[in-house]
Amino acid sequence: MLDRSLQSVLDDVTARSPHEPEFHQAAREVFESIGPAIRRHPEYLEAGILPRLCEPERQLIFRVPWTDDQGRVHVNRGFRVEFSSALGPYKGGLRFHPSVDLGIVKFLGFEQIFKNALTGLQIGGGKGGSDFDPKGRSDAEVMRFCQSFMTELSRHIGADTDVPAGDIGVGGREIGYMFGQYKRLTNRFEAGVLTGKGLAWGGSHVRTEATGYGLVFFLREMLEAAGTDLDGRRVVVSGSGNVAAYAIEKVHSLGGTVVACSDSSGYVVDEDGIDVALLREIKEVRRGRIHEYADARPSARFIDGGTIWDVPCQVALPCATQNELDAAGARTLIRNGVIAVAEGANMPCTPEAVDALHEAGIAFGPGKAANAGGVATSALEMQQNAARESWSFAHAETRLEEIMRSIHRRCLETAEECDSPGDYVLGANVAGFRRVADAMLDLGVV
Ligand code: NDP
Repeated sequence: MLDRSLQSVLDDVTARSPHEPEFHQAAREVFESIGPAIRRHPEYLEAGILPRLCEPERQLIFRVPWTDDQGRVHVNRGFRVEFSSALGPYKGGLRFHPSVDLGIVKFLGFEQIFKNALTGLQIGGGKGGSDFDPKGRSDAEVMRFCQSFMTELSRHIGADTDVPAGDIGVGGREIGYMFGQYKRLTNRFEAGVLTGKGLAWGGSHVRTEATGYGLVFFLREMLEAAGTDLDGRRVVVSGSGNVAAYAIEKVHSLGGTVVACSDSSGYVVDEDGIDVALLREIKEVRRGRIHEYADARPSARFIDGGTIWDVPCQVALPCATQNELDAAGARTLIRNGVIAVAEGANMPCTPEAVDALHEAGIAFGPGKAANAGGVATSALEMQQNAARESWSFAHAETRLEEIMRSIHRRCLETAEECDSPGDYVLGANVAGFRRVADAMLDLGVV
């Protein structure tokens, strides 16, 4: 149940932006947590912090025309939602996927505000992308699309204004094409305008691995707080993209075994443990489908469709997309003896799934905290660019570990303060919200 004052703001937000169910879901989750902070600080309500936070500072929607290899013209839609710059330049990734619309970009941008605040770094929140589908497209087509997308986006971004990065469908290849076009249009090598860059042209060690590694560092802290560890644990990871691959790698290096992963066509089970090098070769180099993994590995089998949450495990890491783990999936995990669930993706668990996990007393790490390692390392990349420095892999990884440990601590301490010990969702939302809200109070009504 929401406080009356919060419910009325949420009703207004929903009415002002109908047809954006994912954004409403993300806003409701935050509103359900921040009651204690609002009760202690009525000045947040008086200063209109919530309605201001729920209305992006700027929303850009633009046409992205491009030509395929046969000379046919296509038109996609581009988005950039610059949500909040109270703590620093807008920061958040770009997603290229046919499901992208304004509601999806707003949900991701809204989450990003609190996630970025939680890192303790000077970054605001934003997100963007396009309904372009890179699947099956040649490198030349992807390049032409990225160049057209950046031709418009370049007018709105900058190292001190708005700094995009990758997300679903946007990896090193796409960031390269976009950075190249930005450099050409502006005649400036402005390294800090994008993160996730290649190491030779301004990238940071560990940025590629950061979301997956950070997720597992956070998981390790969660397990330690529960008096246990990853050693010998059976783990299931959904997805097989950037976040999933490096989460699998880190689980293995900390003694767990990932026995299943997936893509949108189905999942593979490999009782010998997922071979990350083979997975990356198939997904990143060949840009193939997950069944090719089972074709190449005698110990693996491919399950066409179905749900990966049927695979028994002690730890589940949803790393694909929003709302991929529902109440039925959560109940199956609980029945099969899961002890911890941590979100690598953004909002992969439905509210009903989160409730089921909480009721069963399963440790649950929300994406806002658990997957914040990606954006935190992006901020470290910006720091290196500003200083024209390049840190070693070991140094960047140590910084990432420290940041994940401090996010974990901040979540637990805040949950404790709010009389909800062990509630990471509440801890993450309240800690992130307070930092942004306090900055907004200082900055006046803007
Ligand atoms: P990738 O594009 O590298 O991989 C996405 C993976 O998820 C692919 O295996 C893809 O399968 C699968 N997937 C995507 N959509 C669906 C769907 N509708 N149903 C089932 N599977 C799907 O993206 P990332 O790994 O970068 O991102 C994964 C998640 O992590 C997203 O929620 C993203 O917002 C979040 N995230 C990413 C960060 C980053 O640094 N990259 C940072 C923080 C969060 P297929 O190939 O079949 O589409």
